[in-house]
Amino acid sequence: MKILVINAGSSSIKYQLLDMDTQKPLASGVVERIGEDMGTISHKAFPGTPEENKFSAEKPFPTHKEGMHEVVALLTDSEKGVIKDRSEISGIGHRIVHGGEYFFAPAVVDNDLIEKLRKTIPLAPLHNPGHIIGIEVALELFPGVKQVCVFDTAFHQTMEPKAYMYGVPYELYEETGLRRYGAHGTSHKYITDQAAKYFGKPKEECNFVTVHLGNGASLSAVKNGKCYDTSMGLTPLGGIIMGTRCGDIDPAIVGYIADQKGWDLQKIIDTLTHESGLKGICGSNDLRDIHKRREEGDERAQLAFDMATHRCRQFIGAYFFELGKVDAIIFTAGIGENDPLYRAAVLEGLENFGIKVDAEKNENWNRQPSAISTDDSAVKVLVIATNEELEIANETVAILNK
Ligand code: ADP
Repeated sequence: MKILVINAGSSSIKYQLLDMDTQKPLASGVVERIGEDMGTISHKAFPGTPEENKFSAEKPFPTHKEGMHEVVALLTDSEKGVIKDRSEISGIGHRIVHGGEYFFAPAVVDNDLIEKLRKTIPLAPLHNPGHIIGIEVALELFPGVKQVCVFDTAFHQTMEPKAYMYGVPYELYEETGLRRYGAHGTSHKYITDQAAKYFGKPKEECNFVTVHLGNGASLSAVKNGKCYDTSMGLTPLGGIIMGTRCGDIDPAIVGYIADQKGWDLQKIIDTLTHESGLKGICGSNDLRDIHKRREEGDERAQLAFDMATHRCRQFIGAYFFELGKVDAIIFTAGIGENDPLYRAAVLEGLENFGIKVDAEKNENWNRQPSAISTDDSAVKVLVIATNEELEIANETVAILNK
């Protein structure tokens, strides 16, 4: 069975075609700059294998429809293609950033779903409009193929009100849906499932702190396999310090900047979203660059690293108290998988709490779901590569089989 996973943005479409028998991608790529004078497509057949076959081109994609047409043409190309015909695709899984309070689980696309997605646009104005266009184009290009939406917020819908409510007038929640929704739920769920497999027990018997550290980053407290708390807030701007996003700040800062600098609200939000975090402190949001500069004695790079790891550690500490008992701390995503220095800084000196990182295992993680803690560490520290596309494809298959 083959499943096409689509992540449509306002001017881009990321895609991956997976073979569900091998659980491996057959092709993946991204169409960008849709709607601009000139667009781009980068496509890989058999990504990550020795036979990997790359292709890229520049051409205009006036709308998402032309972009998706190009994707189908590449997938079915007589030379470069990985399938003969689009009828080989059994189902389509759409990655959806925000499902509001409507969706606790993946759902089949129908008119009612699209209507609910429209209602959640104010909560994800940069993402959900693009997702809706992606769904509409896919419905047109793949008539009769079942389409499923998998929501980044769904995993966090098990939080209790005490965790997701903000201390603001209750009417704001009732009237506008203002509450914590979380992000990266598909990744938090995937590594929760993988870690339960690692321990060989049902996830309902597991408590974890899951740490997704990419350019965007969030932590979750997972109690009995379900999300109990998470660091992201109403939008993906909250929580820990990220690549370019500020994370949690004193809300009065917004008014203070407006007052002191005369900036309008949009400029302030843009600054907190794109010019803050690691980049705001030291000018770079790439840990590889930051480490190089730290070695050269760059104080701002050191400060950025110290601030980010300090905040991450605070959340882990908070979630330990919330959960009471923790089986494992699990790191994933770009930084979580690739940066032993970040992991070591976050968990340094916690032996009294039963957390002991094995320096050698941490340095040489083998890319398999495995522990980087010592054998006698009461709390295991795992690193598990996330795979959101595979999770979306598996969720899609589960719904197709229902
Ligand atoms: P996104 O949220 O955009 O999907 P990723 O999960 O791909 O982000 O993470 C990207 C980040 O991972 C980069 O900005 C960089 O800071 C970090 N990263 C990637 N590779 C390495 C590495 N080898 N060492 C340290 N950090 C890395």
